This record gives sequence, C-alpha cells and structure tokens, in this order.
Amino acid sequence: MSTIAIVGLGLIGGSLGLDFTRQGHRVLGISRRLETAEAAIALAAVAQAGTELALVAEADVVFLCTPIDQMVGTARLMRPYLRQGTVVTDVGSVKQIIVEEITALWPDFVGGHPMAGKAEAGLAAAQGNLFRHRPYVITPTAQTQARPLAVLTDLVQQLGAEICQCHPHAHDLAVAWISHLPVMVSSSLIQACQQEPDEAILALAQTLASSGFQDTSRVGGGVPELGTLMARYNRPALLSSLESYQQQLQQLIHLIQAQDWQGLEQYLAAAQLARSAYLP
Ligand code: NAP
Repeated sequence: MSTIAIVGLGLIGGSLGLDFTRQGHRVLGISRRLETAEAAIALAAVAQAGTELALVAEADVVFLCTPIDQMVGTARLMRPYLRQGTVVTDVGSVKQIIVEEITALWPDFVGGHPMAGKAEAGLAAAQGNLFRHRPYVITPTAQTQARPLAVLTDLVQQLGAEICQCHPHAHDLAVAWISHLPVMVSSSLIQACQQEPDEAILALAQTLASSGFQDTSRVGGGVPELGTLMARYNRPALLSSLESYQQQLQQLIHLIQAQDWQGLEQYLAAAQLARSAYLP
C-alpha cells in the first residue's frame, strides 16, 4: 500500500481519494481552502488534509488535480518538498503543455487523464467508482522513465479504469474531437435556442424540451471555467475541429436549402453508422 497525496480536492481529486482510501492506501489531501480539506476528511476521501504543500513530503505518489491553469505552478511550488523517487502525475484534460513543463521540473512524472466527469464541480460532487470501466489515458513520452509509468498503471488498474496509452499530442488532438468540441457545440446549441425572438415560443420550447434536448445540451450546461480552460490550453486543435464542424453545418444548410432529401438521408445514415465506433 502506498501513501498517495492528492492536490486539489474537487470532483476528480475527491473521487480519487474515495477510491484509493477504499483500496487501503493512506491518502493525504491538499486543497486551496481549509474548509475543503476538512470536508474531505469528513467524507473519508482522505485520512489527513490541509492547505500546505509540504504534506507531499510524505507521499510515494502525488496526483495533481487542480484546474488546468494551476497545474504547472503547483508542481513548481511543491517541488522543494518532494522526496526523491516520488512519482508525480496529473489528471488535466489537456496534456501536451502540462507534460512538457512538469517533466522538465520533475523527471519522475507521467501525465494522465481520466475520461470521466460530471456537470457539477467541487468536492460535493465527488463519488466512489467514478472511473470504473471508463478510459483513463496515460501519456508517456520518450523522456518518461519506466518506473513512474508502472506505478501509475498499477494505481489506475486499481480504480477499475480501462487504460489507454498515447502521446500527449495525440491525446490533445483526439480529445478536441470528442470532449472539447462537444462542449462548444452543445453550448452553442443552447445559445441558438435562446435566439428565438418570440418569448411565448421560447417558453413553449423550454416546456417541451425532453430527453433529446437533455442529452444534447448536457455538456454545454457544464462548468464554464472548465470549458474556457480547455479552449485556452488546447486552442489549435479545438479551432481546427470547430472549423470542420462549421463545414458540416454548412453542408447541412445546403442540403436542406436544395431540398435534397435523399442527400440529407444519406448524410444522416452515414452519421448513424459512424456513431457506434465512438460508443463503448
Ligand atoms: P473542481 O471540482 O473544480 O476541483 C478542483 C479543486 O482544486 C477545487 O475544488 C479547489 O478546491 C482546488 N484548487 C484550486 N486551485 C488550487 C490550488 N492552487 N492548489 C490546491 N487546490 C486547488 O475541478 P475538477 O472537475 O475536479 O477538475 C480538476 C482537474 O481534473 C482539471 O485539471 C480538469 O481538467 C481535470 N478533469 C476534469 C474532469 C471533469 O469532467 N470535471 C474530467 C477529467 C479531468 P478549493 O478551492 O475548494 O480548495
């Protein structure tokens, strides 16, 4: 059993704490606010917690679970307290920048990204088994040492997650399509509906909205800070996927303007066929 420090006790950090505590590891928590650290102890997500990064000195493994823009700064601040050989990893939704910068600070680092989430943020949304049967991406590079990779792989297996290994750059390109683009598309769908000029029609649409709208608007109704950070830290890949999406919308407009119903049906049938490859 290991001593695991989790820095950033929110949805992901808290959920990892619950699982690792249940597995019998000694989990230490560090968060920005003392009340969050205390709440994590009360939830039994961590055995001990506080706001001081010095706590990482006791850890065999550190999971950085702060917002993306805090990752590198936090790694830099905690570096003086790390024991030699401590494995450091992160859970950020963007990998290339984080992996490059933290590897330069700490060679026993390997990046990761659990592909599990919720619309809510914060410790109150944390839950056990959040990562079970979900992909967990591990992103080694040519600089990654074998030992941190093996340590992280073992811990991720204990979460019951499905491990997927790829280069950080490949990760960022792939998640632009299936994670970051959907957030932008889904939020723009909600914003498009909001353009209805007749208040009575808008109210009727809101009353009639059912499972289809719930499914398609879910990720667009999530935490704004997370979507903004995805765009800031994965900008070129997200822009390229948005441009491709714009072309698809244009194609749909042309088909419908031309009343090309056969063409539209072919378009929708191709999408229907392709969808299954994205599902578990
Ligand atoms: P979250 O619920 O907002 O949790 C982050 C927590 O970190 C906050 O609650 C905050 O706690 C704490 N924090 C903020 N700045 C800190 C700092 N400088 N030092 C220590 N603690 C700090 O966010 P999350 O959804 O768990 O996301 C965390 C990371 O996981 C992000 O990098 C994100 O990209 C990644 N991720 C998110 C999802 C998702 O769907 N949400 C999925 C996979 C990966 P207090 O201020 O209360 O102390």
